[in-house]
Amino acid sequence: MADRFYCPAMPSNDQIILEGDEAKHLSRVRRLGVGDRVEVFDGKGFATVAEVIAVMRDRVELRPEGIPLPDREPPIKLTLATAVPKGDRFDWLIEKLTELGVWRLQPIITERSVVDPRGAKLDRLRRAIVEASKQCGRNRLMELERPIAWRSWLEAAKDPARLIAHPGGSPARSWPAVNAGESATLAIGPEGGFTDGEVDEAKECGWIPVSLGQTLLRIETAGIAGATLLLSNG
Ligand code: SAM
Repeated sequence: MADRFYCPAMPSNDQIILEGDEAKHLSRVRRLGVGDRVEVFDGKGFATVAEVIAVMRDRVELRPEGIPLPDREPPIKLTLATAVPKGDRFDWLIEKLTELGVWRLQPIITERSVVDPRGAKLDRLRRAIVEASKQCGRNRLMELERPIAWRSWLEAAKDPARLIAHPGGSPARSWPAVNAGESATLAIGPEGGFTDGEVDEAKECGWIPVSLGQTLLRIETAGIAGATLLLSNG
């Protein structure tokens, strides 16, 4: 795959401008120069090949070919609503969910949650989504929402398929079918698990408890396993 660069404001005229980190990455890290061809994507689904026409200190100009490159989004729009694991395990989870094609990541705050990312940390994590998208060839950035209380999310989530991962739930072969073009939400609890009250409330709101196997998975393993199972069905 060609080197890829992120330009959120893709112009309608015949020049793309990279500035800041993206310009530095092209010229100083990848050491590309005039005449080199790269891919540029806008994070909203559009990508095209472009030729470098000028390299300045913190600015690179490119001429786009304009022909859209294939979109690599999976057929299901999956929201993963997850408690936040400690330390860099959340960074790792975000990178892997971006690679898998998860549509949206919704951090949730549950009764037993111990981590609540905000502010600068969310900005840093959004940068990690850009980096993972550059690496894996994804043209649409995974959305990263602000943390929300679990009870508020129970009422806000409107996807037809709403699954809560909980030991003892339905095995994968009995999960509701999520077909291409449909959307789904999968919720993952904190290290201490969802409380019985939280699971009961979810059931009352139409959520289905699902199992991810016989062993107890850490938050990030559960998120990746659940996302893979759902996305591979679409
Ligand atoms: N002691 C906790 C319990 O029994 O729920 C373990 C929590 S686990 C470390 C973190 C979250 O991952 C759980 O709340 C659940 O959402 C998900 N999870 C982990 N293993 C699972 C499994 N085998 N089946 C379903 N969900 C699982």
